Amino acid sequence: MLNIILGGAPGSGKGTLSDIIVKNYGLQHLSTGDVLRAEIASGSKLGQEINDIISLGNLIPDAQMIQLLQNYIATLPADCKGVIFDGFPRTVEQAHALTQMLDEHNMDAYMLDLYAEEDVIIERLLNRGKIGGRADDNLETIKKRLRIYNETTRPISDYYLRRHKYFLINSNINPECTWSQMDVILKQLAQ
Ligand code: ATP
Ligand code: MG
Repeated sequence: MLNIILGGAPGSGKGTLSDIIVKNYGLQHLSTGDVLRAEIASGSKLGQEINDIISLGNLIPDAQMIQLLQNYIATLPADCKGVIFDGFPRTVEQAHALTQMLDEHNMDAYMLDLYAEEDVIIERLLNRGKIGGRADDNLETIKKRLRIYNETTRPISDYYLRRHKYFLINSNINPECTWSQMDVILKQLAQ
């Protein structure tokens, strides 16, 4: 199985590139943000609690996210070619938990980390906020998400680098340019 952790700040292109990977490599796509937004859309009490956290730009507690991942991995079809983890792990604790979960199934994962400059990211997210209506795509919340990313999520890049499972990708220009870098790496990893 080819398991990919798509890293990178909010707006670095994880969702866009996931779609391209799915088309080209037939992997399953798990976007934790999409799963959480679906729960919000269902109108459940849990969804309301999640909405209170996300709309302020904060992270959902680790224990809850790790449980979500455990449920997801347990239901993967036997013929699964691999998974794109988009939005997980977001903390070092989540990274440790993912390693343990994958170990238990004799699997591992490589991190492909999308890097884009902050001014590029802010412009992308503000544009998405205008057209897509995501409650967390406003300037104040974007800044908070970026701060939390830098403080809490960025250290997981080191975690995978030290395990020799890390690739850094320039995602400043456009999806095609980002994809051409990723495709070279994925071809090698898929061998
Ligand atoms: P983008 O979709 O542009 O990459 P993003 O990374 O901020 O932006 P999502 O991945 O969709 O957005 O996540 C949206 C929100 O969902 C996060 O800000 C956070 O509140 C919550 N969330 C998603 N994944 C996790 C996680 N692994 N741990 C904690 N909270 C999470
Ligand atoms: Mg996303």
